[in-house]
Amino acid sequence: MAKQPSLFLPHGAPDLLLTEHPAKRFLAELGGRVGRPEAILVVSAHWESPRLALTSAAAPETVHDFYGFPRELYDFRYPAKTDAAVSRRTIELLADLGYAVEADAGRGFDHGAWVPLLLAFPGADIPVIQLSLLKGGTARQHFEIGEALAPLRDEGILIVGSGSVTHNLRALGPEGAPPPDWATGFDDFVSMAVEVGDWKSLMRFPDAPESARRSHPTPEHFLPFFVAAGAGKADCGARLHRSFSHSSISMSAYSFGSDRLAI
Ligand code: ZN
Repeated sequence: MAKQPSLFLPHGAPDLLLTEHPAKRFLAELGGRVGRPEAILVVSAHWESPRLALTSAAAPETVHDFYGFPRELYDFRYPAKTDAAVSRRTIELLADLGYAVEADAGRGFDHGAWVPLLLAFPGADIPVIQLSLLKGGTARQHFEIGEALAPLRDEGILIVGSGSVTHNLRALGPEGAPPPDWATGFDDFVSMAVEVGDWKSLMRFPDAPESARRSHPTPEHFLPFFVAAGAGKADCGARLHRSFSHSSISMSAYSFGSDRLAI
């Protein structure tokens, strides 16, 4: 059983699935580079819960939680099954940190979870469990949640945080338009801080740097980054990909805890 890295992946806008984009190619090739984990634990920007919760249906539904996109996007399905043993382990590990995790049998996979997994692991034949974000939780709390989950990586479980390094829906532009300075500025800040291990600065999110608020009017799209980083114990942080979508959405991706995916 190969020890797994933890990953922070972009999910972009759902129409990523219908367009040609460097991030789509990156995600499509990523599965082959990762290999075959025993299971995937994914934390998406699109599920915030006042107390931590995870999917517990035997085969969670594919939720099309977006509006105004082309009809064909609503036909995509990601029929991965759950793994009750991994759910129990996740609940145990988070109980040690003081969280009572709720098992939610009615919850399906949101597009933040299934879009990148559909591209990277199109067979949907690896068990998937989705864990929520902690609504109102800080960067440090999400890092600690990731740290508590780190033992899962030794058990062959891939931990994925899914969001965006920049996410301001009021600042979208046409596909291919150059990104604004605040978006490249925050994206570069994150990359540099990861490279030199400046977690003190990263943990100040969303209060600093100045580009953080502009990049995230609300913080939920960057909090999965901290779960992934914590799960990798902030070791071997490496940016695996960089591009922008709809002008200002960063599609940067990172791995932590292992240097085997770094180029
Ligand atoms: Zn999103």
